[in-house]
Amino acid sequence: MTSNPYPLGLRLDGRRVVVVGGGAVATRRVPALLDAGADVLLVAPELTPALRARADAGRLHWVPRRFAPEDLDGAWLVQVAIDDPVAAASVSALAAERRIFCVRADDRSAATAWTPAVTRHGPVTVAVLGGGDPRRAMTVRDAIRDLLAARLAPGGSARPQSQSDTEVTSAAIGATAAGTPGATGAPGDIGAPAGRQVGRVALVGAGPGDPELITVQGWRLLTEADVVVADRLVPGLLLDELRPDVELVDASKIPYGPSRAQEEINQILVDRALAGAFVVRLKGGDPYVFGRGGEELLACAEAGVPVTVVPGVTSSIAAPAAAGIPVTHRGVAHEFTVVSGHLAPDAPASLVRWDALAGLRGTLVILMGLKNLAAISETLIAHGRPPQTPAAVVQEATTGAQRVLRSTLDAVAADVLAADLRPPAVVVVGDVVHTLDEGPRPS
Ligand code: SAH
Repeated sequence: MTSNPYPLGLRLDGRRVVVVGGGAVATRRVPALLDAGADVLLVAPELTPALRARADAGRLHWVPRRFAPEDLDGAWLVQVAIDDPVAAASVSALAAERRIFCVRADDRSAATAWTPAVTRHGPVTVAVLGGGDPRRAMTVRDAIRDLLAARLAPGGSARPQSQSDTEVTSAAIGATAAGTPGATGAPGDIGAPAGRQVGRVALVGAGPGDPELITVQGWRLLTEADVVVADRLVPGLLLDELRPDVELVDASKIPYGPSRAQEEINQILVDRALAGAFVVRLKGGDPYVFGRGGEELLACAEAGVPVTVVPGVTSSIAAPAAAGIPVTHRGVAHEFTVVSGHLAPDAPASLVRWDALAGLRGTLVILMGLKNLAAISETLIAHGRPPQTPAAVVQEATTGAQRVLRSTLDAVAADVLAADLRPPAVVVVGDVVHTLDEGPRPS
């Protein structure tokens, strides 16, 4: 009969953890140690390819031999991941002598520490110990994970405690990358005018249309928002799920021309955040792919408002994929170029070198291109892209209204008119359009 274990959260940043063994168990254990910032010393004559890749990348120190007592020098924790009980027992005896906790894959009852079954939700880690029975721990962990997923996912009913708002994500003025999930920040401290608590802004990519294609982090931030400023292309179902007290600003309803409207949006983000709100700016696809996310970030940075950017699944890749078109394929296309067709090829303000694009052999993905499609395809053909190059148009990709048209470069503009295709639509030009025609189709 043993006493109950005493749970702890080990803060391993920069601390030496010795892993003995380089097989399947070590392969499963090492990523969480690295994720916790541990300084991992891996002792094993041989490694699995996955561990080898981490060693080669300099993420851990590999000692390519069997265990020796001096390997424990400076260690805070030992993980024994070998199935030779005699060797494992000798490592664990040495660890005990030095008062180093030792996890044993081969014999839990002989171990001085157990690793729990874990599920992570943003900054929250749920760790379950099953009283020495790992299967029981996993069953309970799975039930908790499902419960949390149901509460946090589209269709879920609850929202996390608002106190967690200050902890959910890293925030920095001028941040250009997504906050590391679980990282902490104190947005109120950054750039705050004296005496007033500044809120913050998250620029969140909502994905191409299917509400399930938002990222886990994006969804979590959405459930925590006080104000949501949404684009026209944002999946409506995501907005259906917002709490009734959330202020929803429909950015597509803002009058004035596009540039005045953008200023107006920037102002709304800044004003609400300066008043202390957590503002989610929800944008179709990815915030930085023709999404004007950069302008909004700069406006917030200028006003001293911390910003987090959460990338999204962009329609430039997802729309072709939803139509069964891979943007690259071995032996077919080794590049893809994403271009805006918003301006006509001969428009003085156009920054696109259509003549150069015509000389490429790879995949061309054109966003906002329906209006100018005739001029675009003529220009591409005039500069050398073969007229028979396969082309496809995907309208409202990943939604219930998705439509797909397949054609060729010389005919696609007329076919779009005949089929009455409308924005939002992505045009794909290149041999990849037919690559999977014979093969299995995604459902
Ligand atoms: N930031 C967005 C793109 C914004 S520009 C992204 O990363 O996806 C708007 C253009 O995106 C539309 O004109 C259309 O070309 C394309 N688009 C966005 N959603 C789409 C969808 N569901 N189906 C097809 N095209 C889409």
